[in-house]
Amino acid sequence: MTQIPPAGTEAADILAALGCPLPATGRPSPIDGSALPAVPDCDSVDAAIARSVSAFEAWRSVPGPVRGQLVRLFGEALREHREALGRLVTIETGKPLSEGVGEVQEMIDICEFAVGLSRQLYGLTIASERPSHHMREMWHPLGPVAVISAFNFPVAVWAWNACLALVCGDSVLWKPSEKTPVTAWAVQSVFDKVAKDFGAPEALSQLVSGGREAGEALAADHRIPLVSATGSVPMGRAVATTVAARLGRSLLELGGNAATIVASSADLELALRAIAFGAAGTTGQRCTTMRRLIVHNSVYDTLLPRLKKAFGSLRIGDPRDPATLIGPMIDAQAVTAMGAALDRARAEGGTVTGGEAQGDCYVAPALVEMPAQSDLVREETFAPILYVLRYSEFDEAIAMQRDVPQGLSSSILTNDLREAEAFLSATGSDCGIANINMGTSGAEIGGAFGGEKETGGGRESGSDSWKVYMRRQTQNVNYGRTLPLAQGVEFDL
Ligand code: NAD
Repeated sequence: MTQIPPAGTEAADILAALGCPLPATGRPSPIDGSALPAVPDCDSVDAAIARSVSAFEAWRSVPGPVRGQLVRLFGEALREHREALGRLVTIETGKPLSEGVGEVQEMIDICEFAVGLSRQLYGLTIASERPSHHMREMWHPLGPVAVISAFNFPVAVWAWNACLALVCGDSVLWKPSEKTPVTAWAVQSVFDKVAKDFGAPEALSQLVSGGREAGEALAADHRIPLVSATGSVPMGRAVATTVAARLGRSLLELGGNAATIVASSADLELALRAIAFGAAGTTGQRCTTMRRLIVHNSVYDTLLPRLKKAFGSLRIGDPRDPATLIGPMIDAQAVTAMGAALDRARAEGGTVTGGEAQGDCYVAPALVEMPAQSDLVREETFAPILYVLRYSEFDEAIAMQRDVPQGLSSSILTNDLREAEAFLSATGSDCGIANINMGTSGAEIGGAFGGEKETGGGRESGSDSWKVYMRRQTQNVNYGRTLPLAQGVEFDL
């Protein structure tokens, strides 16, 4: 491996080159413990919301396609800084470089999607039962949108929300994870420059710093009609309760517990790759990470030894080294939580292969053969642990896939058309995402992303997810000279 500088120094250099320098005196990088740049605290949440309201009042009157031009220019600026920002994602989160750059590419992709969308915010015309009347639906901007984001996708999930919100005519308040403020700072700086040159209203999209309290303040404020929150189930439960109490709207993207079924007809070569990336990729820190493998008895004894070998050969190390497949976890606390889950699994009769801690934040991914689906397996441990279970009948596998509180992602590896279609049917997978012959992670931006049950029910990114960022108005126009009432009601004076 060529000489790589300390992560904190490199992050500070990247920020300086981007024109938004900060001193390297912040939290430790998961890569080598060196101090990352320290992001200064922003203004109070209250003042930020007041500015966001003013920005919204100006922005909502700008035509949609013109709003789209701002997002187009933002996408171009992201493209220009793709490698630098991708490296910063890697340095701050510990995900391998191709995934760090991939996250920036995801922002660029959603910019392109949003630009097209800016000319397609379609409503409906509906047949009216009254003569000489028109009825139609029109979509209007909603208001300031709060985006609370998680550490594991420090910028892409914000972009899913912000780019759609901006073309929909909303202003944006972004509270990034307190574990990953540096990339947020850099992306916000790129946005600020573009917005200034464009002549966008001041504070159209702004950062809100802080941890849980800042998120709670956003959730509680009646000036924010929509709170989009990504993170753990307990966080989502708290946000949902607060927002519901003021009858606001929340969009929740919470924890997952994805299962993959390996059927007797599965292509085992393809299965090995799908399982290794799905379970161990991003060091198990994706909401869509494969956490449960439900394997048919007939292929179990062939697949498991190969899987153990594949897991054992995954290269662990500095994620800036292109040969690395498994970078560090986000912090030492995450490593401790993984160790505790493995201890519980052993106590429940599980057989653990791998899973050793290797220094402060590095771990080997673990395969855990479990006698049954226990409460432990039903929990989301945000770490590279794959619980392996056996099945003999297809219905049994589906029942196991469904038997968890979360409902984000799922997949089946099979060459049996009946099984594949049954998996996609109403009685098959109960998740927001259902895949055939692939793993459970790595979604594209074109589809609506989100999940059921404790995952929160939200949908973000592609398809018609934009509708949540707007308010729908049903409009009735009487172009006649009389006043007929609906349902034949009479009220003659
Ligand atoms: P987290 O819940 O600890 O924090 C997420 C964000 O919520 C942070 O910005 C945090 O400051 C804020 N927050 C915490 N408590 C809050 C409260 N009471 N009110 C308002 N804001 C609050 O999650 P994390 O550890 O950063 O991320 C990992 C979790 O996120 C995992 O459970 C993962 O599955 C989930 N996740 C889900 C998706 C999805 O799309 N479904 C995507 C990424 C991550």
